[in-house]
Amino acid sequence: MYLVLLGPPGAGKGTQAKKLAENLRLPHISTGDILRRNVKDNTALGKQAKGIMDKGLLVPDDLVAKMLDERFNNPDIKNGFILDGYPRTLAQAKTLDDILGRKGKKIDLVVYLNTSDEVIIKRLGGRLVCSKCGANFHVINMPPKVGGACDNCGGSLYQRSDDNEITVRKRLEVYKKEVASLIEYYSKVKKLRSLNADLDAGVVLKQIIDLSAKV
Ligand code: AMP
Repeated sequence: MYLVLLGPPGAGKGTQAKKLAENLRLPHISTGDILRRNVKDNTALGKQAKGIMDKGLLVPDDLVAKMLDERFNNPDIKNGFILDGYPRTLAQAKTLDDILGRKGKKIDLVVYLNTSDEVIIKRLGGRLVCSKCGANFHVINMPPKVGGACDNCGGSLYQRSDDNEITVRKRLEVYKKEVASLIEYYSKVKKLRSLNADLDAGVVLKQIIDLSAKV
């Protein structure tokens, strides 16, 4: 099952992808996570990406495509993946088809997590991320059991530098500009399914699992 999660920042793509990955025993591939790791490790890619990410803009296509192509060479994707954060533009959707096509694979299902702006701003304003395992928490909706520490691995929690209101609004603007063409692209090939992601995370997860079982 080669599954793409589509949706605005804060729709819960990361949270859902992690749960789905466990449930369906597939790797979770997040372009945002890979980029943040590069920033943290101060790699050449990380140095190029940092300023762009902090402004809420998109890292150039060629850099992200190369990064993803390399990631897809890992044999762990032989039975599928949960892809989160890519594609973000029509050009990226076409690149994704090309990269996968060259490896004899194709996308099976695209789930669009539809969310209102108010929910997004609230979710991202209070989001906490584990510096070790990447698990997400929320100061109000999903607080960690022990303040500042991850429930799963004990890693320290931090707020992403791009989760401030100004950058969130920019990320939303960038997202909205591109999403319609992506929806059209995947609708045409009948791979798109939409869900209301304002609902409880457990309900959304079950709906995605049900959709994936029908493919
Ligand atoms: P995310 O974790 O998906 O919210 O991504 C965080 C940031 O990483 C984005 O605001 C972009 O700057 C960058 N990024 C992640 N995925 C992509 C992508 N597919 N194309 C370009 N930039 C990306």
